[in-house]
Amino acid sequence: MLRNDIKEFIKTIPQDITIVAATKYLSKEEMDELYENGLKDYGENRVDSFLEKYEYLINNKNIKWHFIGHLQRNKAKQVINKIDYLHSLDSLELAKIIEKERTTPLKTFVEVSINLEENKNGVPYYELSSFIKELLQYKNIELVGLMMMAVKGSLNTQEQFHKLKELKAEIEKEFKITIPYLSMGMSDDYLEAIKEGATHIRLGRILYK
Ligand SMILES: *Cc1c(COP(=O)(O)O)cnc(C)c1O
Repeated sequence: MLRNDIKEFIKTIPQDITIVAATKYLSKEEMDELYENGLKDYGENRVDSFLEKYEYLINNKNIKWHFIGHLQRNKAKQVINKIDYLHSLDSLELAKIIEKERTTPLKTFVEVSINLEENKNGVPYYELSSFIKELLQYKNIELVGLMMMAVKGSLNTQEQFHKLKELKAEIEKEFKITIPYLSMGMSDDYLEAIKEGATHIRLGRILYK
């Protein structure tokens, strides 16, 4: 069930920020409810559930599909031409599959690992520059942003978001490019992420509790 005051909640988010509804908790009926409440950017993290929901909503033309979870290489083919955004590019092996399979440039966020001690998915921050250098040669990948998940570690949440913002500026300067988006912030930390310049917040539980 969506929260009763979903419309009021949405109004508390600045209009220039995209709410990507993390749909992993939702049934098809609840997807209909999201749509009726004006939320049209959906983020899934598992290939099977994505395909199910995608088929179900295939006639709703103005939906944007974001893939936000780790995308296994052996399953990538099944989704790569159905999604509008990939938030979780974390390896050149996956980039190569996209380059080969995708028919138009895919708007892609590179997932960055800021807190290495947690061993999360993502490109370690100190390898980001060489990763991007390689990536810029792929014509079917349109680099639009950096993505991260904050974790408990030596830096607090806001410091982690700040670090991603700084990394973005460094990369832009180094390669003389503009990276328009930052995908960061979830139910527990989206306010801090917005303070640090998030353009896309990925919200799950807070929409539903
Ligand atoms: C589930 C999920 C979210 C949303 O998490 P909540 O804490 O429920 O807001 C955001 N990003 C990713 C990658 C997720 O898997």
